[in-house]
Amino acid sequence: KEAAESGPTFADLGLSKKTLATLDEIGFERPSKIQATFLPIALSGRDCSGQARTGTGKTAAFTLPMLEKLDLDRTVIQGLILAPTRELAEQVSQEMRKLSGGRVKTVVIVGGRPMGPQVDAIKRGAQVVVGTPGRVMDLMGRGQLGLENVAFAVLDEADRMLDDGFRPDIEKILRKCPKDRQTLLLSATMPPEVEELAAKFMKNPERVDMSEDALVATEMIEQFVLTVDPDRKFGALLHVLKQEKPKQCLVFTRTKRGAEKLYERFSRKLPSCAMMHGDLQQRKREKTLQAFREGKIRMLVATDVVGRGIDISGISHIVNFDVPEFQDDYVHRIGRTGRMSSDTNGRAITFVCRDQGDQLTKIEIRVSQVLPTYPLKDF
Ligand code: ADP
Ligand code: MG
Repeated sequence: KEAAESGPTFADLGLSKKTLATLDEIGFERPSKIQATFLPIALSGRDCSGQARTGTGKTAAFTLPMLEKLDLDRTVIQGLILAPTRELAEQVSQEMRKLSGGRVKTVVIVGGRPMGPQVDAIKRGAQVVVGTPGRVMDLMGRGQLGLENVAFAVLDEADRMLDDGFRPDIEKILRKCPKDRQTLLLSATMPPEVEELAAKFMKNPERVDMSEDALVATEMIEQFVLTVDPDRKFGALLHVLKQEKPKQCLVFTRTKRGAEKLYERFSRKLPSCAMMHGDLQQRKREKTLQAFREGKIRMLVATDVVGRGIDISGISHIVNFDVPEFQDDYVHRIGRTGRMSSDTNGRAITFVCRDQGDQLTKIEIRVSQVLPTYPLKDF
C-alpha cells in the first residue's frame, strides 16, 4: 500500500545478495519511501536521524543496514537497539529475525523477565542486543553486558528515548559504546529540541524527514471526534462498536486505573476483550499482546504503553476513550492502525468532553485538519 509502484527497488539500494533473497522470500517487494531514502545513507556508514509516518517500515530501515554491517563470524555484541517498551523490543527482535533469515543471534534484554536466560544468551555469543534502557543498564552494572564492540547503535522511537525520563540512561549506555560506532535514530515524531539534543550522540548526522503532510496520513487513517459527557462515554463506546464492527479495536485510556475500570465493565459484555498496562505482570502482558496479534482478542483496553511502535495488522479501529495529553501521543496512538502491513485503512475516533476543547484544538493543529464529528446514530 505504502510501497511505491515506481521508484527504486531494493536491489537499487546496495543491499547484499543474501539480504535481497530474504526480502524476496518474506514478500517485501519494494522499499517504502523512508526505506528508499534512509537505506543508502545508512549503508554508506553515516549517522542519520529519520522521521517518517507510523507504519511505514522504519524498523527495516535501521535493521537492514545493521545486518549488512555485522560480522556474522564474530560472536560478540556488535549491534545495540534501544526501544521504550518491552513489547516493542520483542517485536523489533522478531522483525530482525525475519529480515536476517535467522542468521543473526539476537538477545532481548528487557525487565520483568528473569535475568538468567538473558545473561546465558549473551555468553552463548549474541551479536545484537535489543532492549529497554533499564535492564540494559542493570546488566551493564553487573558486568554481564559489555558494549565495547558495538559498531552500530539505534534508538527506535528516538524522541521518547531522549525525553527526560530515559535520557540519563541513554547517555550512560551510549557512552559505553565505542566512539566510532554508527548511530541511527528513528521516529514518527521529532520535536526540534529533541533533534538538537540528538546531535550530541551522533557524528555529522544526516537528517531525513518523510513525515509528509497530514493529508497523506488521512488517506490511511480516517479520523473523527465525538463530544460526549464523561458519564456517557461507556455507552458511546458500546454504540461505536456496534456501528463500526471493528475487526480489532484498540481503546486508549489515560491512566492504568482508567483501563482497569473500563475493562471491568466491558469484560462482562464482551468476552474477547482484554487489558494492557504497565502494572500487569510481564508474563500477562506478553500473553495478552500475543493473543491480540493472533486475533483471539478483538478489543484491547490499554494505556500508552502500547501507544508506540506496536505493529498489528488486524487493528482496524482506534478509540481514544480519553483524549491524549500530548499531541504527539495522538499521532502515535492512531498510528497503530492504517499500517503498511494491513490491507485496509484504519479509523480513529477520539472522545472529547465539553471542557476539553483546547486539547482538541491542539490535536487539530498537529494534524492540520479539523476533525469531523463521528456520525453516531441513535445516541
Ligand atoms: P514503523 O516503525 O514505521 O511504524 P514498521 O517497521 O513496524 O513501521 O513496519 C510496519 C509493517 O510493514 C511491518 O509489519 C513490516 O514488516 C512491514 N514492512 C516494512 N517494510 C516493508 C516493505 N518494504 N514491503 C512490505 N512490508 C513491509
Ligand atoms: Mg517503529
